Amino acid sequence: LTFLQGLPKAELHAHLNGSIPLDVLQEMARDYISAHSSDLIPVSGVVQKGVENLTKGVVLNEIHDFFGLFPAIYALTSSPATVAKAARAVLESFLDGSSPQCTYMELRSTPRATDLMDRHGYLQAVLGEVERYPAGQAALIVSIDRRMDEAIAEECVNLAITLKQQRRRVVGIDLCGDPLAGDLQRFVKHFQKAKSCGLGVTVHIAETADNPASETDDLLRAFAPSRLGHATFLDQEAMRIVFEKDIAVEICLTSNLLCKTVQSLEDHHIRFYLERNHAIAICTDDQLPFRTNLTAEYALLLAKPPLGLGLTQDEVKKIAAMSLSRRFSQ
Ligand code: IMP
Repeated sequence: LTFLQGLPKAELHAHLNGSIPLDVLQEMARDYISAHSSDLIPVSGVVQKGVENLTKGVVLNEIHDFFGLFPAIYALTSSPATVAKAARAVLESFLDGSSPQCTYMELRSTPRATDLMDRHGYLQAVLGEVERYPAGQAALIVSIDRRMDEAIAEECVNLAITLKQQRRRVVGIDLCGDPLAGDLQRFVKHFQKAKSCGLGVTVHIAETADNPASETDDLLRAFAPSRLGHATFLDQEAMRIVFEKDIAVEICLTSNLLCKTVQSLEDHHIRFYLERNHAIAICTDDQLPFRTNLTAEYALLLAKPPLGLGLTQDEVKKIAAMSLSRRFSQ
């Protein structure tokens, strides 16, 4: 444990609303319930049930069940103050304390508009927390959800570009959300614009066996990412491009196992990349529902099979160094 905790490493793939520490989420739920319920108006069942499920620990039958967890969390983070509170708690859980999970974090989040804030206000709230840390410690990736209308995706990309130009701590954009939703052609020109303005590009890609090879090919060629999220089901041609262009892969072991897109560590695609010495970054994805943390993900590398991958300390050190070398802010 001392070895893993002392290892300099980067968290490059963590979604804000999936990473809120459980005790903070519960506190936010209590505040929400006392503000919203009265004898006449019962508190929303979605919030009550959602927080209960997250407290018990979620069991997913398949990855699509996972996205149903978010409406409850989103109800609790719907104002600038609550978004900031959530962001602060997530950043502290990774970067602060006597044994921080990592030395550098790229937190990602999807700008949301509610009755209480617009998307710019959302990003301001998150950035206010990110920028409490030095540039070498924390930065923000703006996520574009596959379900978004094109106009909203364009707005998010333009916000990311403007904030970067204003020297705010936005370093990249991400494509995320339900892996089978939406037609991605709508987003191509916006991702290309972001890249041409100097933002890093990462995309969730081939997360399920049902993602068509043609979509994966489009993502690799037209979106021109320099990092990939998950990349679980790449075919040979996709692999060829990934190696040729040296695109790093963000690996989320526990997330893949719990979402059942990978059956066991034995079958995990990380092995393929390790054998070829290809760049990877070990990440948590959503530490709230997956009940994990970055140290635990690294522990899976070190633990002997079948519990872990049985790598040596030197191999793990090399992987940790790779994660730092693939950050967007250089
Ligand atoms: P947010 O962007 O801070 O709101 O974080 C939660 C959002 O991240 C979810 O609503 C999803 O759109 C996205 N997300 C979290 N985990 C995954 C994943 O494993 N695959 C694709 N999208 C994800």
